[in-house]
Amino acid sequence: MITSKGYAVHSATDKLAPWSFERRAVGENDVQIEILYCGICHSDIHQVRSEWGPAKYPMVPGHEIVGKIVKVGFGVKKFKAGDLAGIGCMVDSCRECGQCKNGYEQFCVQGAVWTYNSLERDGVTLTFGGYSNNIVCDEAFVLKVSEKLPLKAVAPLLCAGITTYSPLRKWKIGKGHKVGIVGLGGLGHMAVKFAASFGAEVTVLSTSPYKEADALKLGAHKFCLTKDKEQTKALTNYFDFIVDTVSAVHNYDIYLAMLKPNGAHICVGIPTEAIQIRPFSIIPNKYIGGSSIGGIPETQEMLDYCAEHNIVSDVEVIPISYVNEAYERVIKSDVKYRFVIDLATLD
Ligand code: NAP
Ligand code: ZN
Ligand code: ZN
Repeated sequence: MITSKGYAVHSATDKLAPWSFERRAVGENDVQIEILYCGICHSDIHQVRSEWGPAKYPMVPGHEIVGKIVKVGFGVKKFKAGDLAGIGCMVDSCRECGQCKNGYEQFCVQGAVWTYNSLERDGVTLTFGGYSNNIVCDEAFVLKVSEKLPLKAVAPLLCAGITTYSPLRKWKIGKGHKVGIVGLGGLGHMAVKFAASFGAEVTVLSTSPYKEADALKLGAHKFCLTKDKEQTKALTNYFDFIVDTVSAVHNYDIYLAMLKPNGAHICVGIPTEAIQIRPFSIIPNKYIGGSSIGGIPETQEMLDYCAEHNIVSDVEVIPISYVNEAYERVIKSDVKYRFVIDLATLD
């Protein structure tokens, strides 16, 4: 076994605090990564607090992991010690079902093994995430990370990046499309960067007036303050697509009114309560659906695209001792635009 240090919670009301635990020894197809940076995703907060239903404790959160490979099993082909590597939301799946074979491991019929708050395929061993100094993972779920980009700003690509890249690619969003991005947070700011890079006209739909200048700097063409009825009315039937990254319960009808007939509203944000929609908001051939992270091949494609086009996340690097305060600030939308933990600060 390998000894790991990290930050954990032991119940839904706990604060994150230092904790030691064990990971499996490096097996034939495993790599061991020394974790250097890990992003803080709003999903970490939802899960730490059991907001999506009862979670598994003790929990070491973190699924935006980057670091350096320190050890490889004798069967490992893709990596060698010293390589940079990343791990996102999944660490295993059955690899045999149609979903896995088509590169949609997140929809594995036997259930994907999530990076934390999940059980390994043995059905008993808890997984522990990236707010820690090391991780052991089968190379099939480890991503190659370019040396060209600043590593701390690459970490959020492993979740916020792929979660926004994937629906934009699936719907072939680009030149000639008008796209609205709801919520300028960790996911939202990556959605803006990707949609602009793919050639779409991008509008940020935000509740925070002070984010307008940043939205334009990040690549958006327009900004709409959604609390202002005049501004939303001016965008009636305007968008071909809306990507909704909002983490909290919100009104969908406002955004559906801004969608053109035959347009699609894609939900990636996961509020904690059921969605309510007025039927007449979707009857004019308007579609609402969702998107879940992205499979391993597409995550690698996204990382390669970012290296080629120099796309990274805007980050605030923090020591791990600041993590509980960082959570409170994420909830208040007070982060530009992703907190990333520097694991060198773990003692
Ligand atoms: P985040 O950084 O907190 O960003 C969420 C943004 O939503 C905020 O910056 C804010 O933007 C907006 N917002 C917050 N409260 C709102 C409210 N009451 N009404 C309207 N807008 C509000 O969170 P994140 O890390 O980007 O994650 C966003 C959501 O996506 C979370 O629910 C997370 O669990 C989920 N998620 C889903 C997937 C997936 O696979 N589908 C993957 C990762 C994360 P403005 O200030 O601009 O309004
Ligand atoms: Zn995430
Ligand atoms: Zn499968």
